Amino acid sequence: DGAFDDALLRGLNPQQREAVEFRGQSLLIVAGAGSGKTSVLTRRIAGLLQSREAFPSQILAITFTNKAAAEMRERVHQIVGNEAEGMWISTFHSACVRILRREAEHFGFTKSFTIYDSADSRALLKRILKELEADQYGFTVSSASGKISKLKNELQDVESYARGANFSDPAEVMFLEIFRRYTQALSKANAFDFDDLIGQTVYLFRAFPVVAAHYRRRFRHILVDEYQDTNHAQYSLIHELTRPVRPDIADEVESAGGLVKTKRDSLGAIPGASLTVVGDSDQSIYAFRGADIRNIVEFERDFPNSKVILLEQNYRSTQNILDAANAVISNNFDRKDKKLFTDIGKGNKIVGFTGYSGHDEAQFIADEITKMHDEGIAYKDMAVFYRTNAQTRALEEIFIRSALPYRVLGGTKFYERAEIKDAMAYLIAVANPSDPLALRRIMNVPKRGIGPATETALQSWADAHDTSLRDAVRNAGELGLGPKVTGEILEFGSILDEVMATVTASDDWDPTTGTGRAAAKVSDILIALLEKTKFVETLRASRDAQDEARAENVEELVAVTKEFQKNNPDGTLLDFLTEVSLVAAADDLDDSSGTVSLMTLHTAKGLEYEAVFLTGVEEDLLPHRMSAGEPGGPAEERRLFYVGITRARQRLFISLAMTRAAYGNVNVAMPSRYLQEIPADLIEWRQSPGMANSRGGTEPRALNARRDGSAWGSSLREAAALPPGKPKEKTQWANMVTNVVRDNSALELSAGDRIRHTDFGEGRVTAVTGEGAKRVAEVQFETAGRKRLLIKIAPIEKV
Ligand code: ATP
Ligand code: MG
Repeated sequence: DGAFDDALLRGLNPQQREAVEFRGQSLLIVAGAGSGKTSVLTRRIAGLLQSREAFPSQILAITFTNKAAAEMRERVHQIVGNEAEGMWISTFHSACVRILRREAEHFGFTKSFTIYDSADSRALLKRILKELEADQYGFTVSSASGKISKLKNELQDVESYARGANFSDPAEVMFLEIFRRYTQALSKANAFDFDDLIGQTVYLFRAFPVVAAHYRRRFRHILVDEYQDTNHAQYSLIHELTRPVRPDIADEVESAGGLVKTKRDSLGAIPGASLTVVGDSDQSIYAFRGADIRNIVEFERDFPNSKVILLEQNYRSTQNILDAANAVISNNFDRKDKKLFTDIGKGNKIVGFTGYSGHDEAQFIADEITKMHDEGIAYKDMAVFYRTNAQTRALEEIFIRSALPYRVLGGTKFYERAEIKDAMAYLIAVANPSDPLALRRIMNVPKRGIGPATETALQSWADAHDTSLRDAVRNAGELGLGPKVTGEILEFGSILDEVMATVTASDDWDPTTGTGRAAAKVSDILIALLEKTKFVETLRASRDAQDEARAENVEELVAVTKEFQKNNPDGTLLDFLTEVSLVAAADDLDDSSGTVSLMTLHTAKGLEYEAVFLTGVEEDLLPHRMSAGEPGGPAEERRLFYVGITRARQRLFISLAMTRAAYGNVNVAMPSRYLQEIPADLIEWRQSPGMANSRGGTEPRALNARRDGSAWGSSLREAAALPPGKPKEKTQWANMVTNVVRDNSALELSAGDRIRHTDFGEGRVTAVTGEGAKRVAEVQFETAGRKRLLIKIAPIEKV
């Protein structure tokens, strides 16, 4: 209606424009990768704000990662400025935590609840399985946690499950008991697991209509990105939020809260919020977590009169990359055929590479990255994807040797390190004294002589007195334990109580005059805990070399809390704990970091890079071994491959190895079945220099072999006759990084010198850059080509 700024619509194609301008009740945008779904969602938000149709507080936008949320906020900010503040742009999980922190008291939790990550839930389940000797019924921690998670994603609880259970099946009775104890333990600990965050919010809305009405009234526009990956619980949450509010309840909410009367319909009800969802069923990759493509298919049924808009132009990738993506995905049945096109042009061919081993593959990648960097592509515009975290080992080893700056997103993250989890558990114990898991974790960290027997005694006392483990700690004097250990326990408990007293402001605290005691800052809370328990001091005094690194990590955590306090001057301990428990894999991403990004294919969703490496495109990895037996497994893995391909803007590399190290063995690998689905003329195949003279050909022999139905052929023999020095799969990776035996620090090298390398043979140094431990030599080898070597650890000598 003319309220739109031209800038908002500039450059959009007609379908995108229609999606931005649409003003009906519900809108579904289905479109392939890179067609501007996320861009359109962002512009819709900007449009609503700019035309004053909505206040920022009336908008709820759901993204898949916090990283995507931050990016979207930034993009909205660019378009409408400070109005973006106060808007809820978040993941499902963050939005639910915000709601639960405000409302959990309605159903027996306190707002200081703990969020159990998957490691925490597994630890809890492990105890329960042991108590019940459930392994006799075939239960493992994984199987039980998988089943519980699946049920929760279906919004089932113990009661509803029990109603349909078959009580003549002992395994089922056992499972029911596991589920019941698990649920009880969580609520006793004042804790939610990850699935609960969504499920309990839905429960809250269903059980407390006035609470639900508050949020329904507030959020007038709900927008969901990556809709194809929502599961039933998330879908129900959206459904709950978009329902109209009955006139009587609307009146109650508005008069109780002293709120302005909102627009009502002719019957006096507050109409349901407008809903926009965008998704691509070809990118649905979370079925194993309960995501349900039917959500897209059934959208039109559940939200009648919704408008559907298709986008077909891709703005991200070259035609060659798109052709490959289209060809691969067309092998999935049960999908609407859609073809993406682009104006960008054909671009380079996709490069395929076959190495002897994972190391060989990694070396190829390192070399190509170096070449592209020389051509002016920044490291941050390149990414390497893999199916499983284990594949990073070879990549990291070569990247370190080649002095390439890189970051691994997800995987063993900072917050998954044991010492960080310990320090975090101290913070949790202070925030939520009901949580026994955190307490158990730190009871003997640093070592204070509280062993498993003492822990059991404390727990039994707590059970007998129907109280918490923390109470047992306070009353350790009554347990009849030895005087030394009793003293230690009491000391431990009083440290926690002392620090806990500083977490909230004192009653006489007056923020206007600054009198009384304000709530302690998160960093001060952490520092107090670390000092009183001698946490870092003990690590520093240890003779284990690793403990020094651990001490540094804990200090890094202190720095994180300081940074947090700087960015959130009013941020509380709970805010900090919430933030930490919700960082997703892709959130480590920092675009300004100037490093190559390494991540799993799952993490790559929604992202885009100038150059992309898809590694380990082999049977058993992609499709993954575990998916083979699952119904729909191979089709889902194909979608994962499709997601990977479509992340690339200009350059795409697909690589595999003939042998791959796994579980301490070196196995012969087979090319992935998906490779033959890419038309041969789109790929230019290369192979290791050492392999080139064994046989020519444009694609790996094994792929040829696949095409004519036979297998790898003589590859086993070939693998057995690898050149000397390869493969190095059995190198102890940890040793190599932490205590490198070789140290060439003193080796003087300069351009023009000739060197010999154990693997690459002789070559000439063309340049030396960097200093000290970071000195890098660029070397032109006679047969192996140009390489970058980290001089300190390179197996080289001058000749
Ligand atoms: P995915 O399915 O991978 O999440 P998407 O559909 O969300 O992809 P976007 O990330 O929104 O796609 O857009 C892909 C790229 O195309 C982005 O770099 C975006 O800036 C660009 N783009 C989108 N629409 C246009 C347009 N009309 N003109 C130019 N560039 C565009
Ligand atoms: Mg997107």
